[in-house]
Amino acid sequence: MRYDAVVIGGGPAGCRTAALMASEYDVLILEEHPQPGLPVQCAGLLSDEALSLTGVKPDILNDMYGARIVFPDGNETTVRSSKRLMRVVDRAQMDSMMADAARDAGAEIQCETKFTGSVPDSEGRRVNHTNGTVECRVLVGADGPRSTVSKELGNPGPEENLVGIQAEVRKPSDDDYFTSYLGSEHAPGFFTWEVPCGDFTRIGLCTAGEPPFPYLKKYLKREGLEDRIIRYGCGRIPLGFRGRSYGDACALVGDAAAQVKPVSGGGVHPGLRSAAILADYLSLALNEGDLSAVNLSGYESRWKAEVGADLEKGYKLRRRFVRMSDGDLSLAGRFARRDDVRSVLNDIDIDHPDLVVRRILKSPRMSMHALALLGRLAL
Ligand SMILES: Cc1cc2nc3c(=O)[nH]c(=O)nc-3n(C[C@H](O)[C@H](O)[C@H](O)COP(=O)(O)OP(=O)(O)OC[C@H]3O[C@@H](n4cnc5c(N)ncnc54)[C@H](O)[C@@H]3O)c2cc1C
Repeated sequence: MRYDAVVIGGGPAGCRTAALMASEYDVLILEEHPQPGLPVQCAGLLSDEALSLTGVKPDILNDMYGARIVFPDGNETTVRSSKRLMRVVDRAQMDSMMADAARDAGAEIQCETKFTGSVPDSEGRRVNHTNGTVECRVLVGADGPRSTVSKELGNPGPEENLVGIQAEVRKPSDDDYFTSYLGSEHAPGFFTWEVPCGDFTRIGLCTAGEPPFPYLKKYLKREGLEDRIIRYGCGRIPLGFRGRSYGDACALVGDAAAQVKPVSGGGVHPGLRSAAILADYLSLALNEGDLSAVNLSGYESRWKAEVGADLEKGYKLRRRFVRMSDGDLSLAGRFARRDDVRSVLNDIDIDHPDLVVRRILKSPRMSMHALALLGRLAL
């Protein structure tokens, strides 16, 4: 039997693409682990919009209305919104529910099956895996940050690979805000997060170009939490475009296509928006019987128009962020503590953080100081 689509990867992007296609088409998901969603590599912070895109309703561990941000000079500011900014979920449960939803829609899932490569044939692709071979009309690479399918398309790696590490610790807290430390002492090139989840807390950080574990160890020691670790998780976050997201009878989605927000490292929202675009596009292409690279290039044009513009703006912000010294970050902290700036930050839309910058730049009083700060960073 030739499947209409074989999806590599049972993460959110793969399961959602499969769930949206499976009522009309024969879809098979190949997942290398014994269970979709494990091991967990996520802080579980999702906006309401991102959560609704999953198509499932996982348990909510906590709601976040704000953030306490600590700058390198030790000064801090707390941003607080009247609206809920993010929900905290259990990613293992969410991913497992998304896999069930794909199954309920008619998709097959084969776990403990690792994709090893594919060969184009006259009707699509022959897909090789650790338990044999299957044939499909189109191959979907939803195989995460180290995507083998992307490599097979000849793509280079992403512009940047962040490495993230997280510990769940026995520190009960129902606080409705998370804490983040900035600066080279805490998380060079990114930031730390401390997310209260009720009975426990998730503490993690990413680093750029350095191993993150020593920084996490230092954090846990400073907070006296070394003996309270429940489990660790770690993973990569691919940032910046990584070549083509399509080929002959092939398309990439989610982290495999570096559809990740460069400012926050959040990949669920852009990955799921792109999954809906891909499912739509592949349904059309399967109906037309045209799965050529030329036809599938339309998927890339669409996700770049609808999702990619935000990612590009985010990457511009990130480029400025990584150029900031600890002194610059502390200066930005002083700016963020101004009442007028804080009131704009309080309204932040977590899925579109660039809108905050735009609002600040629109105000003559705030923009003068912001531009002076940005001018320093452009050097
Ligand atoms: C520490 C950390 C914290 C994060 N926190 C957040 C957060 O709070 N909010 C947020 O939105 N994002 C967060 N992210 C990013 C988010 O986890 C990813 O963007 C998201 O999981 C991407 O989904 P995906 O389906 O594209 O890929 P993945 O979730 O990586 O799924 C890919 C799947 O493919 C499978 N696979 C890979 N290769 C093969 C193969 N050869 N054969 C078969 N199967 C294969 C893998 O086992 C995996 O199950 C975080 C990332 C890290 C590392």
